[in-house]
Amino acid sequence: MAGGFKADLTGSFSTPCHDNPTVVMVEAAYRHHNMDWRYINAEVQPDGLASAIAGARAMGWRGFNLSMPHKVSVIPFLDGLGESARLINAVNCVVRVNDQLIGENTDGKGFLSSLTPIHKPEGSHVMLLGAGGAARAIAVELILAGIENLTIVNRSSSRANELKKIADAAGNASIRVMPWETQISVPDDVDVLVNCTSIGLGDASATIPVASSAFRKNLIVADVIPNPPKTHFLKTAQEAGCRTIDGLGMLVGQGVLGIRYWSQIDVDSHVMRKALIDAFS
Ligand code: NDP
Repeated sequence: MAGGFKADLTGSFSTPCHDNPTVVMVEAAYRHHNMDWRYINAEVQPDGLASAIAGARAMGWRGFNLSMPHKVSVIPFLDGLGESARLINAVNCVVRVNDQLIGENTDGKGFLSSLTPIHKPEGSHVMLLGAGGAARAIAVELILAGIENLTIVNRSSSRANELKKIADAAGNASIRVMPWETQISVPDDVDVLVNCTSIGLGDASATIPVASSAFRKNLIVADVIPNPPKTHFLKTAQEAGCRTIDGLGMLVGQGVLGIRYWSQIDVDSHVMRKALIDAFS
């Protein structure tokens, strides 16, 4: 890795990019592992995406992430898709394989890597609050990992039904849609409850209308919100004795996977998590 004056290049294309924290954790990992690699957080407008990708190809970038608003519009510029990216129809991580650019989706895989150390998904019943991009990615990855039941609760029923179609196509799990109510109840056989809405982003006091009786001691409660990591939702669950998983785990998991895709190196997740916590504080 060391030697010479040529670094390996990676980065991210999005707009607005100034509050995207991925660069902080990825560069912390590169430094920690003495990798002569760089990660450039680039502001790319929709009409500049084709040129940005052509530039990355021309410069031999090892890979890059896509964030809003490019996760779907990037697909025509790529040479192939991984399985979950195809099912979700969204790409957040591009990997150069020989001269080809292959689109992957690490959103749901990052979530899975934060869940599996405390709960194996096979045969489980998972309930998702939300049906946007994060929920899609998590649903597909959970189904590929063998969950048996998925319950989707979303404010807009049309989006919930769209997610049901995607989830049905991903495997054999039994999928159910429940309405978003003023007091959302959680069926007794749910093993894992996940907030995949944007409620709580940047606001530790924002509440989700889940009935307090839902937080049984054996329920695992997860949140996708990375900042602040301790959301009101997770705080309530913790106080009720539930095991919880914060959104930093998902974010760090994605970072670890992205670097593995690009370099085949397994980096230390603790270094990345600490870098994020330092940046957020
Ligand atoms: P989308 O915009 O695609 O989806 C937002 C979801 O939140 C929809 O289901 C929407 O419901 C719901 N929602 C928003 N506001 C409300 C509200 N007031 N009441 C009820 N439902 C609401 O966003 P994403 O799925 O891409 O992202 C969701 C969150 O996940 C973001 O906060 C993002 O930061 C986080 N995230 C975290 C990652 C991580 O690594 N930790 C990775 C990716 C995302 P409706 O359909 O009815 O509008």
